[in-house]
Amino acid sequence: MGRWALVIHGGAGLIQRRWLRPEQERAYRAALTHAIEAGADLLSTGATAVDCVEAVICVLEDDPLFNAGRGAVFTATGNIELDASIMDGRTLSAGAVAGVTRTRHPISLARRLMEESLHVMLSSHGADAFSAQSGLEQVAPAWFHTNTRWQSVVAWLARQGLPIPQPRVFAEHSDGLESLIHDESKFGTVGAVALDRFGNVAAGTSSGGTNGKRSGRIGDSPIIGAGTYASNASCAVSATGSGEHLIRVAAAHEVCALVEHKQLRLQAAVDEVIQRRLAVLGAQGGLIAIAADGQIAWCFNTSGMYRARVASDHAAQVGLYGDDT
Ligand code: ASP
Repeated sequence: MGRWALVIHGGAGLIQRRWLRPEQERAYRAALTHAIEAGADLLSTGATAVDCVEAVICVLEDDPLFNAGRGAVFTATGNIELDASIMDGRTLSAGAVAGVTRTRHPISLARRLMEESLHVMLSSHGADAFSAQSGLEQVAPAWFHTNTRWQSVVAWLARQGLPIPQPRVFAEHSDGLESLIHDESKFGTVGAVALDRFGNVAAGTSSGGTNGKRSGRIGDSPIIGAGTYASNASCAVSATGSGEHLIRVAAAHEVCALVEHKQLRLQAAVDEVIQRRLAVLGAQGGLIAIAADGQIAWCFNTSGMYRARVASDHAAQVGLYGDDT
C-alpha cells in the first residue's frame, strides 16, 4: 500500500488578516482542521479517494462558514441554487449537478449520478427529482439560508441598482457560527482532491456559485474539466474563483493536460493556469491539485484561500492568507 494525500479548499477571495476578526480566523482554521482530519482518518484506514472526497465535502457543505450547502450565497431572486461535481481518476467516471435546491449534500448527489445513472450532468428540476428518487436527504430551502449571506446579496443588489427580493425569515441555527461567516467577496466554494493508498486520485467541488448570480447561472464548479477533473494518468484538480473565466480556460483539465502532455511538475502546472492563463483574462481564482505520483500543489492569485493539506508522511497544514506557509 502506498502513500496517501489530501488537499482541500474552502474558496479563494478577499481573505486578509485585517478583514478577519480573531474569532473568525479561529473558526475557519478549526473548520478546515476538522475537515482535513476527517479525511486523513479515512485515507489512513484504507478509504478510496472518491469516498474521502465525498465525505470531506459533506463536512464542508454542512458548515455555514463556506459557500456550499448550508451557508451558500443567494441568487439575485433570493434563492439558493447549488452546483457540485465529482470525478474518479481511476475510471474517468464523473457526476455533476447544477441548480439544485433541496439536496442537503449536492456532492453526494453528484456521486449518485456518477454511479447510478447513464448521465454525467443533470440540472435544476431534473437534478432535484433524481435526488428525491435516489433517497438522498432533502431539506427545506431555509436549511441553506444564513442572514450573513442574505445581507451580502442585499448589499450587492443595491449597489447594482437591482430589485431586492422579499425579505426571508431566518431560523436561528444553534451552533452560533452565523456571526463568524466572513464575506470573502464573491468566492467561497469548497473542494477536495485525494490520492488513496491504492494509487487512485479523485476530485470534487461544491458551490453556491457567486453572490447575486442570475437565476439559472451555472459556474465552473459542476463543469467537468473546468471546476473539477481527475485522471490517474496525471492528477486531480478542484478550482475556486471566477467561474466564467475558469470555464473559458478549462482550468482543471488544463492542469492535467500540462502534467500529462508537457510533463510539467504539478506546482508549475497550477501556477501556469492561475498566474498566466487566468490572470491574462483579468480574473481571480485558486486551484488545489494532487498528482497520482504523490505531488501536491496549490496556487491562487487572490489575497488568500482557505486551504489545508495532509499526507501519510506529513502532518496536517492549514492556511488562510497568502503568506501562511
Ligand atoms: N467558482 C465558483 C463559481 O463561479 C465560485 C467560487 O469559487 O466560490 O460558481
